[in-house]
Amino acid sequence: MKFYNTLTRKKEEFIPLEGNTVKIYVCGPTVYDSPHIGHARTYIAFDAIRRYLKYKGYDVIYVVNITNVDDKIINRAKELGEHPLKLAERYEREFFDAMEKLNVEKADFSPRVTEHMQDIINFIQKLIEKGYAYVSEGDVYFSVEKFKEYGKLSHQSLKEIKAGARVEISEKKRNPLDFALWKKAKEGEISWPSPWGEGRPGWHIECSTMSMKYLGETLDIHGGAQDLIFPHHENEIAQSEALTGKTFVRYWLHTGFLLVKGEKMSKSLGNFITIDELLKTYDANSFRFLVLQTHYRSPIDFSFENLEKAKRAYKRLANALDYLKQKLEGANGEDNTKVLEQYKEKFFEALDDDFDTPKAFAILFDFVNFVYKSRMDRKSTEEAIKFFEDVFKIFGFKLEKKIDRAKLISLAKEFISEVENKEEKELIEILIEIRAEHRRKKDYKIADYIRDKLKEAGVIVEDLGGKTRWRLER
Ligand code: AMP
Ligand code: ZN
Repeated sequence: MKFYNTLTRKKEEFIPLEGNTVKIYVCGPTVYDSPHIGHARTYIAFDAIRRYLKYKGYDVIYVVNITNVDDKIINRAKELGEHPLKLAERYEREFFDAMEKLNVEKADFSPRVTEHMQDIINFIQKLIEKGYAYVSEGDVYFSVEKFKEYGKLSHQSLKEIKAGARVEISEKKRNPLDFALWKKAKEGEISWPSPWGEGRPGWHIECSTMSMKYLGETLDIHGGAQDLIFPHHENEIAQSEALTGKTFVRYWLHTGFLLVKGEKMSKSLGNFITIDELLKTYDANSFRFLVLQTHYRSPIDFSFENLEKAKRAYKRLANALDYLKQKLEGANGEDNTKVLEQYKEKFFEALDDDFDTPKAFAILFDFVNFVYKSRMDRKSTEEAIKFFEDVFKIFGFKLEKKIDRAKLISLAKEFISEVENKEEKELIEILIEIRAEHRRKKDYKIADYIRDKLKEAGVIVEDLGGKTRWRLER
């Protein structure tokens, strides 16, 4: 597999450092407001990459941090008269809930800054000892001139950075490009004790500290959106490589922005749609489709028109899978396994080429056309179903669970006469009534039998507070 590496500006063969293990760190959210669909774009893209690496058989360790103390959080908390850590906790919960709704798999570790203060302080202390950082009136700064390769990720010289950057001029810094590792607390601000006085860490140092703590000194993949290349990731490299003298990250992957009318969706521009708002009217699969049909490095122009198109396209995929499942029982056409192999090969070739999802989808839709045109035998149909199910797993599309009608009918026939022309809902309700009868008679064996068989058919029966309810399996 190949990935485009921002550091070398080339597509490179992906070979993890330690055998089969892939260590990934993706910069997490600053939790001071509700997550929007721009964030969702980045986390869905990396979720799919992670899922694909897992599908290929790698053991992936995936870390996404939570920035729960920072200027924006402190300011927002002041506005709302809330404790900053309480505010952060509230938005962290929202972020996790939103990710779950989008079917983004949980990270293996989601470390919070506030729980790693000592690690961060130790890291900074070592940078001072090594001469890369200096203390200035209660702040600590990283001296960019000391790190000879500063600028290698964003491909700029110090001179170019100086000309282009909007840097904070401060008397406390030796060089305007130096960045804060530790910030002295202002009066009344939340703070932690340190050898340099009360304060809190700068933003960049948390990612170097926490990524190395959970993944070791060298990571395979580090990700985030393109706005993080400079200064955030440039600074992470400087801090980390200054400390260890080793390569910090082997493959730097950066996602393109989600745009609205040509502008980046962001909290500060006020042009954002929260994930919760979106999911009130659209399902997660349609949005995931919208995201993944574009290459992860390219921008996405968000509009409801495009989302509507994505919804229809997703439906076409899901329908093709349903169609195959329906055809399976009576499938007696041709052996198409060779044709299927060719489609699969091209599909995976596209994903192996820097996760080229637009190309992969194009091949998939060609295959959808083939599915409707051809008459397949049972083996080919089975293999085609398996292919679709793998695709859904890789892209994180969640299949709606349906009732297994055949299983429901077979259960119903054991207890009810005239089953065939009854609706599924009616059959389930009659069976639940029969089960209740048996429970009243304390005949739990039959009651449990009905419950278990309903579960096999995709129907979950729950007894809560003396009442029995049923729902479809999730
Ligand atoms: P933040 O909470 O602003 O630090 O953002 C968390 C992550 O989401 C970072 O990797 C950002 O670069 C990314 N992100 C924020 N806005 C967008 C957007 N409009 N499109 C894509 N990624 C974004
Ligand atoms: Zn980061």
